[in-house]
Amino acid sequence: SELATMMDVPVTEVITACMNLGLMVSINQRLDAEALVIVAEEFGFKVEFVTVDIQEAIDEDRDDEQDLVERPPIVAVMGHVDHGKTSLLDNIRKTNVIEGEAGGITQHIGAYSVDLNGKKITFLDTPGHEAFTAMRARGAKVTDVAIIIVAADDSVMPQTVEAINHASAAGVPIVFAINKIDKPGANPEAIKEQLAQMNYLVEDWGGKYQSQEISAKKGINLDKLLEKVLLEAELLELKANPDRKATGTVIESTLDKGRGYVATLLVQNGTLHIGDPMVAGVYSGKVKAMFNERGQKVTAAPPATPVLVLGLNGAPQAGDTFNVMEDERSAREVANKREQLQRIQGLKTQKHVTLDEIGRRIAIGNFKELNIIVKGDVDGSIEAMTDSLIKLSTEEVQVNVIHKAVGQISESDVMLAMASNAIIVGFQVRPSGGARRMAEKEEIEIRLYSIIYDAINDIKDAIEGMLEPVK
Ligand code: GDP
Repeated sequence: SELATMMDVPVTEVITACMNLGLMVSINQRLDAEALVIVAEEFGFKVEFVTVDIQEAIDEDRDDEQDLVERPPIVAVMGHVDHGKTSLLDNIRKTNVIEGEAGGITQHIGAYSVDLNGKKITFLDTPGHEAFTAMRARGAKVTDVAIIIVAADDSVMPQTVEAINHASAAGVPIVFAINKIDKPGANPEAIKEQLAQMNYLVEDWGGKYQSQEISAKKGINLDKLLEKVLLEAELLELKANPDRKATGTVIESTLDKGRGYVATLLVQNGTLHIGDPMVAGVYSGKVKAMFNERGQKVTAAPPATPVLVLGLNGAPQAGDTFNVMEDERSAREVANKREQLQRIQGLKTQKHVTLDEIGRRIAIGNFKELNIIVKGDVDGSIEAMTDSLIKLSTEEVQVNVIHKAVGQISESDVMLAMASNAIIVGFQVRPSGGARRMAEKEEIEIRLYSIIYDAINDIKDAIEGMLEPVK
């Protein structure tokens, strides 16, 4: 089918051509390399293979344990709108200047580092779980710890739940910041109770989640919050090797009139130096100049450091990886290959799971977890559905409901499904126009039901490998 599409001929003709060559094939079958060449020739096409040896070209050497040193954590702030994400990021940025460096943080470059008693923390400066999950959907693993902020004069809101579920789906530990305690109507205990009802028990309620009451606006207890973040990070034993070629993730990038393409890169391993040849997404170049978030020139960027970099020949996307290469020529080659690959795949980077293929994949043993997002019209049916779905888990496959909520299926749900390889089940709800388009483009399966029993049955059949194929 894919070959037919590429050649723009009817699928049946390709199948007939295969049969004439003695190949009995079905529409979804993959042809091996030799067959591809011969079948394409039948239609006057020449096949050119693009090898995906990109990883080979990139220095993927494992780091020796002795080369690893502690690195600062990278932290994202998420929560419901107006609960204080921006205020928190702004206040931390203003008050915690790295020691010995004059001048506050002047520029928004997408991330910044602060210092707390000699320990560094790097913050991603684009608040919200949408940005977080968009990066994950592109394959970037950036965040080590998530701060989930909840306003104590309000309550746990739908987007709070979403943020918690997005962080949990990524396996990122959470520290709760209970905000606006300076306000007369603030009731932090009520927030803790609501979190407890969601099975997120905070420490002073005997649970495992750290929480800190703060005022983002007045700057109350922010140092205590950061200490808790550092404590959480310590448990992760975050390490990197500063003595290797740098790798990391693109945080943002633009075309600047005066300076050309500028990209904020977050170094995750190794150290980035002036003059380093590199590939970032489908672009390449050489580091001409680097600046920190204070606009100061720097010559080296160690692990967990965000830097503004000049010298790329284009603007890579947020969430793209970057790698320092041996020389500019190999950087350019990898960039070109990636570009070619992307064109061929029509920007599709990943194949996502569908119910139809679950049974087959379980049978060949490479499917262990089925992640599901449940959206519905009322709480009661969502709970009933979720309970039944989780109970479908077998020895071979674990069923996880990674997010459930009342409301229509949103783009944020589709993004989460992309990032977590999940399917979306809607009960008495439909996707928004944007969500439907995104799901089609990214091949995320959305299943809509009006009877709970039907949904349970379909998923049960899929797990047992008995789902009727869609005709
Ligand atoms: P965001 O939408 O989550 O980024 O929230 P903002 O940081 O923009 O905050 C929303 C509103 O709440 C703004 O008017 C802030 O000034 C206010 N706000 C944020 N934190 C506090 C706080 O600790 N105390 C009080 N009184 N107001 C706050």
